[in-house]
Amino acid sequence: MPAANEDWVARAAEEVIAEAERRHPGAAPTCASGISPSGSVHLGNLRELMTPHLVADEVRRSGRPCRHILSWDDYDRFRRVPAGFPQSFAEFVGRPLTSVPDPAGDCHENWAGHFKEPLREALARLAIRVTEISQTQMYTSGAYTGQIILAMRRRADIGAIIGRYQAKQADADAREAREAREAREAREAREDYYPFRPYCATCGRDDTTVTAFDDDTTQISYNCECGAAIGPVPIDQVRGKLVWKVDWPMRWAYERVTFEPAGADHASPGSSFTVGRHLVEDIFGATMPLHFGYSFVGTQGSAKMSGSAGGAPTPNDALEIFEAPLVRWLYARRRPEQSITLAFGTEVGRVYDEWDALARKVGDGAADPGARAVYTRASSTADGQLPRTPRPVPFRTLASVSDITAGDERQELRILRDLTAEAPINSLSEVRPRLDCARAWVLGYAPDEARTTVRAEPDRRMLDGLTEPDRRALKLLLDHLAEHWSLDGLTTLVYGIPKLTRGLPPDAPPTPELKAAQRAWFVLLYRLLVGRDTGPRLPTLLLALGEERVRTLLGA
Ligand SMILES: [Zn+2]
Ligand SMILES: [Zn+2]
Repeated sequence: MPAANEDWVARAAEEVIAEAERRHPGAAPTCASGISPSGSVHLGNLRELMTPHLVADEVRRSGRPCRHILSWDDYDRFRRVPAGFPQSFAEFVGRPLTSVPDPAGDCHENWAGHFKEPLREALARLAIRVTEISQTQMYTSGAYTGQIILAMRRRADIGAIIGRYQAKQADADAREAREAREAREAREAREDYYPFRPYCATCGRDDTTVTAFDDDTTQISYNCECGAAIGPVPIDQVRGKLVWKVDWPMRWAYERVTFEPAGADHASPGSSFTVGRHLVEDIFGATMPLHFGYSFVGTQGSAKMSGSAGGAPTPNDALEIFEAPLVRWLYARRRPEQSITLAFGTEVGRVYDEWDALARKVGDGAADPGARAVYTRASSTADGQLPRTPRPVPFRTLASVSDITAGDERQELRILRDLTAEAPINSLSEVRPRLDCARAWVLGYAPDEARTTVRAEPDRRMLDGLTEPDRRALKLLLDHLAEHWSLDGLTTLVYGIPKLTRGLPPDAPPTPELKAAQRAWFVLLYRLLVGRDTGPRLPTLLLALGEERVRTLLGA
């Protein structure tokens, strides 16, 4: 839909407003997302919600109402037991997701409910306002009965339309289960094709085959692999649902969806989108929503994570380490056709730095209009501002502080106060939620080589074997430690010592030789303090350890 050089959110919102007005004058536009609660909802699926959200929110910011529906595909069949769950659940395969027990016992009403709740929580934290629609509720309440009867009466037309795309479909799906798909498509396109699949009245599964449907009486008959032979019975008394390719366009018409993006795979030739366009027009008498395909979301560095079973990180996992506006930003700054990689490893600090730099630029009025728009969409919605960290201390600093203190809040506050001597931080609430994100990152994701373990005892052997220049440098540091006990003071002192010991003035230019000397000096300090060659910035580290501990470890 939008061209590459423009603000895609603004453009899509404009089109959505115009299209809604053209189709249903006076009615609010509807943006749609669909999620299957068949297992843990992964971070990648968040794009399915974030993309329509950004557009719906843009419409709302213009002062118009806009509906964003989240359609839960909870009446879909339970297809298989996801990795990490007991195989005993295999007996429920073929039943609706809402007829499968909660995998964790009885904390929710059923399987689907168990996986909806974490996403609901994440949406609340991300300020994504949606109207939830349960497909179980819609189908079992009879809301779609008229549409189901219509589809059954037009089954030959539907079969022909789907059949027309059969060849293309087979091409598109060549890489996955091609033969199985072709066989099913051929079966679906037969003359006795039925777009409605019952859930068996006897066993509850959808291993059913419709054998007859009377267009006049609307009575249906079906057999099931369990041996049941049901009917004829009125179709409005039969549990079941339209097959996916018919279900989707039926809902576009029913909900008057104005805009519904989908993963790029749905937008390929012969996909649900292209078949859906014909079905919604020819069968359900409506127009296809505005749409485009969005690209893939990948993750990096999340292997270490402790959280969800099954491995792939969830939106809540991301919200453990990224402030909510930052998660929004990671999606909002990319165009739909650009893929997104969310990194959980050492890159997290850099992502925070970029975000803070953007916030400063926006604050100074120096950001270009595009960047400012993205910042606004990330940090607020039409409903208001998202919670923010009042004092955005760099994430890496907070991670170091949290690591060195092992999360001891008194120690953390002492260090942060020292680090902000000009306007001291007086309460940890000033650095929350970022501090909690940093803590979660240190515990769950920081690579081992990025962790800091402070020496419990001085390294006697190393101290005894010091060269005379090293000994003099250390003495110089300790002699001036007290008077330089602030972030700026320690920075000057630590960087100045290699110059002093060489008889150079404090503002001496950095020559290659001086740089090498500084590097060796830093390594010496890191070795003595944390037993390795690198660590957090030295002034931060010294402040974090406290004067007494520094003196002990440096052998005074
Ligand atoms: Zn549960
Ligand atoms: Zn059965």
